[in-house]
Amino acid sequence: MPGKSNKTASEKGAVPFCSGDDPADGARTKLRQSALLDPPKPGKPAEPARDELQRWDRQIVWHAFTQMSEYEPLIIESAQGCTLTDIDGREYLDATSSVWCNIHGHRHPKLDAALREQLDKVAHVTLLGASNPTTIKLAKRLADLAPEGLEHVFFSDDGATAVEVALKMALQYWRQRSDPRPNKTTYLALANAYHGDTLGSVSVGGVERFHSMFQPLLFEVLRAPSPDMYRLPPGVTQETALDYYLCAVERILADEHERIAAVVVEPLVQAAAGMVIHPNGYLRGLRELARRYDVLLIADEVAVGFGRTGTMFACQQEQVAPDLLCLAKGLTGGYMPVAATLATHEIWRAFLGTHAESKTFFHGHTYGGNPLGAAVALATLDVFEEEQTLEKLPAKIDRLAEHLRRIARHPHVGDVRQRGLIAAVELVRDKATQEPYPWEEKRGMQVCDWARAHGVLMRPLGNVLVVMPPLSISLEQLDRISVTLEEGIINVV
Ligand code: PMP
Repeated sequence: MPGKSNKTASEKGAVPFCSGDDPADGARTKLRQSALLDPPKPGKPAEPARDELQRWDRQIVWHAFTQMSEYEPLIIESAQGCTLTDIDGREYLDATSSVWCNIHGHRHPKLDAALREQLDKVAHVTLLGASNPTTIKLAKRLADLAPEGLEHVFFSDDGATAVEVALKMALQYWRQRSDPRPNKTTYLALANAYHGDTLGSVSVGGVERFHSMFQPLLFEVLRAPSPDMYRLPPGVTQETALDYYLCAVERILADEHERIAAVVVEPLVQAAAGMVIHPNGYLRGLRELARRYDVLLIADEVAVGFGRTGTMFACQQEQVAPDLLCLAKGLTGGYMPVAATLATHEIWRAFLGTHAESKTFFHGHTYGGNPLGAAVALATLDVFEEEQTLEKLPAKIDRLAEHLRRIARHPHVGDVRQRGLIAAVELVRDKATQEPYPWEEKRGMQVCDWARAHGVLMRPLGNVLVVMPPLSISLEQLDRISVTLEEGIINVV
């Protein structure tokens, strides 16, 4: 348990707003005066010891998605390729790409150099009414690379903000186009969707455990079933699932399309839902339905973009061009927080007008399109070409599939699923009934703890173990990850 700090507010540097109210004020003034007379010696403060770092990490850093009363510090000091090294010199394979973002490995010389070169020019330039060559080049490169029709790029800084931008653009588009449709103010999203943690993204999200707490703050969203091929609804088979799930979407669209601005989807794989893999043809079907019922299609490729599913963008696998495309994570190879929302010319046009008309997109983030991030994103795209990253994937995808086939035989592995270099192993209490382990048992986390102790760093999604390594992973490293995962399951479950 983290110990409580015994420091008083003044020791922590807090100053009361209203000086004179506090009897300790006189003493503080004296302290300040003596500090001025005797200023601290210049020079670097001493480096904190290992134990101190760990204590601060437990007591001061508030870690994302982490129960701080149970947190065991893991402090990574350096990395090389797909290997992370902690402050004790222990090495770990980065089996989930530092939460699904690293692409070409850590400390890639080309990416590092791009960042350094940009530092010699300028670290940050605002995109609010100004620009810089690096960010412009990235916009052009993305527009050229993306599915057809996505000609305009709005930069932000994270996956959640890329989604917020898409949601707001969709709504504003319908209000401002030449034939306005102001009633289109809601969205259709999937059950168990995850689009980030800002309130708009949480509204379209549907992961009970993460999102239900914030219900009073969220806007209304219409919900279609998640096209889950493992847990099928009663009476639905693998063969009828695609039709079933698309019909469910169509029913909602038929009834509600007049008030729906956009359908929001994570193409091919619903990542945080537990790497739920959609049936082939689902995305294509959504695209057609969205067009038929005159709603926009927002593709959130924050997790699946940049080669994860085997192609640069997941949408390409079903020849789909969305109206809005959200990119982040792998965009900078996992180096820097830069995100992008790509839009069609049709959408862009609806925002053009005079200053007085106020059709402007009144949205922006200070660091949107940051040139350091843009430089490293351009280098990431160069490396895709120079190292033929996508061309090398099939052998890795096959190797992972081989391992999964073996792991699937374990009596408590209910399902293994894979799309490209994204793989999931779902643990169940009962294979026949698909009964999950109770959340409180932390089965997934226990396997990951075991893997961590054996040099493989993974993060589960409840009972689902995820393998989603950098695309630069070697076959030998994939073997090590898979075998460690399997041994973890055998030893812990
Ligand atoms: N969309 C999807 C599909 C995601 O998986 C995530 C993050 N895991 C996000 C959006 C949010 O991205 P960020 O954490 O960068 O805000």
